[in-house]
Amino acid sequence: MDCLFCKIVSGDIPATRVYEDEQVLAFPDIHPQAPTHLLIIPKKHIRSHAEAAAGDKEMLGHLMFAAGELAREKKLDGGYRLVINTGPDGGQTVDHMHVHLLGGRPMHWPPG
Ligand code: C5P
Repeated sequence: MDCLFCKIVSGDIPATRVYEDEQVLAFPDIHPQAPTHLLIIPKKHIRSHAEAAAGDKEMLGHLMFAAGELAREKKLDGGYRLVINTGPDGGQTVDHMHVHLLGGRPMHWPPG
């Protein structure tokens, strides 16, 4: 499959694997938007959050928990932001679902 993040999962494209288990992988975003900017992705190819199915519920919880663990590990004690851009209007540019973990600076609202 011609999917960038699947190629990172398989190791065909290198990335710094900051967390990995049987279901999820986390690595730094190549264009960081904050002092900490990690992407947490399911190893299974799911095009977007909109395409997650009932059978993915456990994995989705696992993904969110892993994001929290990473935030604790990165000592984002002042807070952080999790973002799941979904589809063209959501600003999604890579068609493999991912959670952005952003922290290390104050965030603003509303997002652009
Ligand atoms: O939510 P969105 O789909 O826009 O996010 C994709 C993210 O993947 C971007 O933040 C981009 O910097 C990142 N990316 C990456 N490594 C690549 C290509 C894109 O970390 N090789």
